[in-house]
Amino acid sequence: MANLIEQTAAIDTSYLNELNEQQRAAVIHTEGPSLVVAGAGSGKTKVLTTKIAYLLKEKRATASQILALTFTNKAAAEMRHRIERMIGKNVQAVWLGTFHSIFIRLLRLEANSLGYPTYFSVYDADDSKSLLKQIIKELDLSDQIYKPTLLLSRISHAKNRLVTAAIYNDNPHYREEDARMQLPRFGEIFARYTHYCQRAGAMDFDDLLTQTHTMLYTNPTVCAKYQQQFRYLLIDEFQDTNLIQYQIIQKLAAQHHNICVVGDDAQSIYAFRGADIQNILNFTRDYPHHHITKLEQNYRSTQHIVTAANHIISHNTTQLKKKVWTTNKLGEPIKIIKTRSDLEESQWIVQAILETKLHNLALYQDFAILYRTNSQSRNFEEALRKKNIPYRMVGGFSFFQRKEIKELLAYLRFVVNHNDTEAFKKIINLPKRGIGLSTLEKIGTLTNEKKLPLWELLGKAEDFFRAPTAEAILRFVAFIKTASLKLTTAEENAYTIANYIAKESGLLKQLYEDQTVEGLARYEHIQELLSSLKQFVDDPNNEDNSLASFLQTVALMTQEYEDDTSKDKVTLMTIHAAKGLEFKYIYMVGMEEGLFPSARMLGNQEELEEERRLFYVAVTRAQLQLTLSYALSRYRFGKLMAMRPSRFLKEISLEESTASSNKIATAATQRTAAATQFMPCNNVTTLRVGHMVRHTHFGKGLIIQLLATEGKRKAVIRFSNNVGEKTLLLNYAKLELLI
Ligand code: ATP
Ligand code: MG
Repeated sequence: MANLIEQTAAIDTSYLNELNEQQRAAVIHTEGPSLVVAGAGSGKTKVLTTKIAYLLKEKRATASQILALTFTNKAAAEMRHRIERMIGKNVQAVWLGTFHSIFIRLLRLEANSLGYPTYFSVYDADDSKSLLKQIIKELDLSDQIYKPTLLLSRISHAKNRLVTAAIYNDNPHYREEDARMQLPRFGEIFARYTHYCQRAGAMDFDDLLTQTHTMLYTNPTVCAKYQQQFRYLLIDEFQDTNLIQYQIIQKLAAQHHNICVVGDDAQSIYAFRGADIQNILNFTRDYPHHHITKLEQNYRSTQHIVTAANHIISHNTTQLKKKVWTTNKLGEPIKIIKTRSDLEESQWIVQAILETKLHNLALYQDFAILYRTNSQSRNFEEALRKKNIPYRMVGGFSFFQRKEIKELLAYLRFVVNHNDTEAFKKIINLPKRGIGLSTLEKIGTLTNEKKLPLWELLGKAEDFFRAPTAEAILRFVAFIKTASLKLTTAEENAYTIANYIAKESGLLKQLYEDQTVEGLARYEHIQELLSSLKQFVDDPNNEDNSLASFLQTVALMTQEYEDDTSKDKVTLMTIHAAKGLEFKYIYMVGMEEGLFPSARMLGNQEELEEERRLFYVAVTRAQLQLTLSYALSRYRFGKLMAMRPSRFLKEISLEESTASSNKIATAATQRTAAATQFMPCNNVTTLRVGHMVRHTHFGKGLIIQLLATEGKRKAVIRFSNNVGEKTLLLNYAKLELLI
């Protein structure tokens, strides 16, 4: 260690000067396996990005030798941005992205060796479910017992444990288990699903991982190529990797052994997807000669926030002990807001955002509203819209999930991959060509009986269908052929082809003719998709501007699409999507039992601990101010329900009496203990003499007299902090009531 620090001193690069000693040591330790385990906001991502800058600048690594992986597109973009800021140039050629996006890239290069077309399709969950429905029908089973969602999650579960359909069907243990669950034919469905996906040249999301794994573990030539290429591997949020991801990383690192992983066990929030905290322990076991760095200083948040976070996580029994501290300002106490209803909650928060922005001269982009599930976003969207506050919503019902967008994308998918059956099902009768469900079913049966790929079968429509149907199919085939031919023409590009398809298929016309408000909106959405294609084609940073590449990118964006990239907006997102990010002001809403912790996660201690880690992640996103809110009533599942405050809120205050010995923590804790609960005072008639209130500018005060002159209600309030007594018009004062 001492050696490394001396070494560092000799290198005079300003970006390294921004690091503390431990961080710097971790950065310049480039060779061999290394692990950074550290608390939230302690600079793990900073270490990782600085290391990439260092590798490029000082170690003369080429961009394509570096592979850096993380979990969300947003986090990947942020990392790229940080590196570019450090070294002052574009680092597009670094293999930096989410696991899925990087694996798609590798798979596309090697698809043929796996028996897939280069431009394989990516099935999203809807495609997979539609395929499963078809299979259930083919097998004459009940979709009430064989529910597509259930089947899909079982298939996903198996795949994530590297259990293929073949392995599954060979194992009597699985069959017995299925029989017990009244799904005796699950194995058969799994096999058929796998076969159909392959035949359609399609991978689902899980396949992106399992096929990459297969490729590396069964094809030594391909494997050696990438082992050789990737001299340096860097993984952020390592605590959330699952077994397959870990094994892929290990395999890729097997030649150079330069594998740097950074993570925080306290932030592991993907156990439900098979993430395994044990991976951190496995890493130390698998690489006994690793270099380890522990970082404990938090640079992100105020003392109040760091203390609260430490307290929250101390309730979990399964975690590596870490003492996170900060020298940042004490900051404002954490606020807990109680409102009567979910509607009031959203109004209050939006008002608070406006006031905080004004008071602190903040920007909209400094604010984030976090919630446990996407369905909580609606009230906030409405409240923000009412106040004309710009916002971006990450995730949720995304642009790419809109029906009309999926339809045009299905056309594009089919032009690129003529065997994409799910795309075919969406477009064959759109606009109407007189091809109904029975023809579709017959096509399905024929592909099985004749063992013909879909596209070949369509070409021979005359052999199987009566004249009008056959002609309609052949006209469709001819159209797709013309569009596909354009793919090979130099003058055409992804944008012009999409434009051609939108127009010539009749899709645009059909929407244009629909003059309803929804119809117009749908028309505009298609135009928006076309613009985004134009942008994609024109982007000089895009290595591959092909339509196929666009489609594969889009397939991964369904989870976290943002409507546009303009910056100054309030962000709305789930905690899962917020991982690794930071905002000055965080509003963590819906702190209610059953909502957070989620009712679905109260089954056992482990699940509750995962929810608590999620809470820890939420809290540690805040830099300056954290507000937690809960409502006493809320519309859920179409009913007004009474809600109780989340146990997590109590845990914060309970911890206050059991402060740690850490001095900073204790001081901060006492302040947190004073975390006071304020409620927006929407109805001024409820105010009484003796109530404690709070005013945005004057702070806390006591109502000492209430007046009503000329129909206007006023209050004489005695404020602390030398402000003295003020008489305020209640309708304008926007007081918060202390409860
Ligand atoms: P998380 O666990 O949430 O992913 P992290 O450990 O990755 O957090 P970073 O995002 O890298 O933390 O850093 C948190 C903040 O602290 C960032 O704004 C970063 O720029 C800042 N920071 C990190 N290290 C230092 C340092 N040595 N000096 C000043 N600021 C720092
Ligand atoms: Mg990070």
